[in-house]
Amino acid sequence: MANRVYNFNPGPSTLPLEVLQKAQSELLDYRGTGMSIMESSHRSAEYDEVNESTMTLVRDLFGLDDSYHVMFLTGGASSQFYMIPMNFLTKGEAAYVDTGSWSTKAIKEAKLFGDVKVAASSKEDDYKYIPKMDDIKFGTDSAYLHITTNNTIKGTQFHSLPDTGKVPLIADMSSDIASRRMDFSRFSMIYAGAQKNLGPSGVTLVIMRDDLLQQGKDGLPTMLTYKTHAEKKSLYNTPPTFGVYLMKLVLEWIRDNGGLGGMEKINAAKKDRIYELIDSHPDFFRGTVEKDSRSWMNITLRLPSEELEKQLITEAKSAGFIGLKGHRSVGGIRVSLYNAMTLEGAEKLAAFMEDFRKKN
Ligand SMILES: *Cc1c(COP(=O)(O)O)cnc(C)c1O
Repeated sequence: MANRVYNFNPGPSTLPLEVLQKAQSELLDYRGTGMSIMESSHRSAEYDEVNESTMTLVRDLFGLDDSYHVMFLTGGASSQFYMIPMNFLTKGEAAYVDTGSWSTKAIKEAKLFGDVKVAASSKEDDYKYIPKMDDIKFGTDSAYLHITTNNTIKGTQFHSLPDTGKVPLIADMSSDIASRRMDFSRFSMIYAGAQKNLGPSGVTLVIMRDDLLQQGKDGLPTMLTYKTHAEKKSLYNTPPTFGVYLMKLVLEWIRDNGGLGGMEKINAAKKDRIYELIDSHPDFFRGTVEKDSRSWMNITLRLPSEELEKQLITEAKSAGFIGLKGHRSVGGIRVSLYNAMTLEGAEKLAAFMEDFRKKN
């Protein structure tokens, strides 16, 4: 393949090569229509098929029944930060687990609509761990409990879920959606910007159980009401059609590669390569988070000096590994290993990093 790099970008990020090739092959003439799907009406039979089958793929892959609505919204995961409290924080308080910058942003928006209880936080320890499930405290009458399952910037991830009883559990899964198996029926709502594990930016996947949907506040602007999009199957207005189409191709790729179990297996092997390297040379590669909270998707680490970090990023780039710079708020190195990164990519990067260590 001509000049494809190993792309470790944190988002937008690498897409499966097979998906890009398929999109390329269908770009000029989508299934005999003489135009691309981008140029088709969102009311056409072709787009209707894309819309319906993407919803079905989501339910099938996640093991969810018809009580879950699947929606394709716009405005990024960040718009969900305000849409959720706008629709559901109508009385009492909402509970949030604060595990880093994305949670903090979600909390800031929720406070515009009502009372917020921080049910647990690892802020005092620079967010280097996920709080213990037993330490997450919230009222049994809370409107919902919100968690961020993977903390893209800090490099931590939930590896178990809080038991919320009757309180709806809502998760921002932007950076680990569809990366592993999980009992998704424990969630009342899951949302994710597509640009990490599901496709291009511009479309946000929202999965919502009907009982939560029905609790939504009435009288809000039409476009900011979840019921609008659920009832019209994301066709109330013009949806981000090309993004949904690419998401469909990505979900088919996941299905054809063993589903979420298949993703989990390969993602485990990928993260093991990098963490094994870190653990075998802790004086050189310093992991920044506690071991039992380590993310499989975003591995954050520091080297002995900032000069060495810069040097590694520069040399990696010349060797064809891009996107390894840590988030500007934390520095260091970040290795993002989303679904579309191959095991070969992770292995080659580990070998490059080991070589870099020996030379320096
Ligand atoms: C990237 C990211 C977001 C922001 O998504 P946008 O689509 O840019 O709004 C929110 N939450 C998490 C966990 C993310 O990784």
